Amino acid sequence: MSDTDSDVGDADSIISTSVLLGYAEEQPTEDPISQLGGTPKWMHPSSPADSRLAKCSNCNRLMSLLLQLNGDIPETPHERVFYVWACRHKPCWRKKGSIRAFRGVRVVNTPAPAEADNKKKTDASPLPPPAEKKKEPVNTGAFLFGTGPFAQGGVNPFASPSSSSSTPTANPFSTTTTANPFSTNTTTATSPPPAAPAPKPEPLKTFASALSHNLPAAAAAPQPTPQFYGPPEPWPEPLPHTYPSYHLDAEHEHLDTRAPALPKNVQIVDTDEYADTPMSNSAEGGESSVDKTFRKFADRVEQNPEQVLRYERKGTPLLYSKDDETGKLLLAADGEVSVKRVPPCGACRKQRVFEFQMMPYAISMLERDEAGLDGMEWGTVVVATCVCVPAVLDAQGVGYVEEWVGAQWESTK
Ligand SMILES: [Zn+2]
Ligand SMILES: [Zn+2]
Repeated sequence: MSDTDSDVGDADSIISTSVLLGYAEEQPTEDPISQLGGTPKWMHPSSPADSRLAKCSNCNRLMSLLLQLNGDIPETPHERVFYVWACRHKPCWRKKGSIRAFRGVRVVNTPAPAEADNKKKTDASPLPPPAEKKKEPVNTGAFLFGTGPFAQGGVNPFASPSSSSSTPTANPFSTTTTANPFSTNTTTATSPPPAAPAPKPEPLKTFASALSHNLPAAAAAPQPTPQFYGPPEPWPEPLPHTYPSYHLDAEHEHLDTRAPALPKNVQIVDTDEYADTPMSNSAEGGESSVDKTFRKFADRVEQNPEQVLRYERKGTPLLYSKDDETGKLLLAADGEVSVKRVPPCGACRKQRVFEFQMMPYAISMLERDEAGLDGMEWGTVVVATCVCVPAVLDAQGVGYVEEWVGAQWESTK
């Protein structure tokens, strides 16, 4: 009776990794910003990105939105949202620039000295009692992604759509109009106590905040490097093609340590177990190491097969292949996977970090209504990112910057 060896799903054999997995959901989740497919919701309703950022680099057609991802980081004051796009024009597939990503940034609650006076003073009040300052419930308080891997048990207590009186496009992070009823400094406080800086708004639930990585504050002031010249190109209405839209739920990755696939930091791999897998029958040497990369991918995904997204800011992408351009770029000779060789941020020239990758199950979800059609053929889409504030921000404090995308395509056999 005490023998637990054969217990499948034994709690002792389940570990939680530092990767957050994203799952496509029909029902709203705790994350009102992230979505798989659908039409983009901009950082501000009157601040769309330049549509040229979403055009295929090969055919120059407008691409379709694969993913919109809330990228807020607790350590930085500005909002971040990622937009990942793919060209549907099949001749473009497997070519560079047929999948692209950009980052939207909205700078909030950092009033410029000249404009900071009356209207925003309540917002930047130094007066809230210390207890409030510690953790400021901006909107919803506790959030799904930050409450531990098992806490939610798959049930989303906030999923009721009735709680959202605002439109989906409304920005829940906007706190600039939240007046503090206790603030009296509009009449008296001409010089706030220097010891009490304005409380930084507590970021809402994001993939990033759930990981609670300690990140450096915002990058240094970027050098202005305009991406386009001339006025921004508007978006057609409606968009040429959109995929069905899903909400995104996030959960820490759980792995059964007795399964073949293990994260790098858990060295309990029993190589004998591979002997039974059909993929291990290839020749030794180069070929088998090709398989090793893909097998690691497949084994890892197999444990959570419905993941559409892996999020691990400053973590390590899970390579689909080591032989294509992306694989060669990310896989060092010593076998280490890293984005060190990825081109630096085009806006600030700083080194990018890995932030997330899209996973093949997303294709199944996005092409749900297109069964029988030749579907997308990527195995994973790796995105490396920066944290800088774009040099050019519009009146709403919004700017957009292209990020690095490494698409890995299915092998053609
Ligand atoms: Zn194209
Ligand atoms: Zn940058």
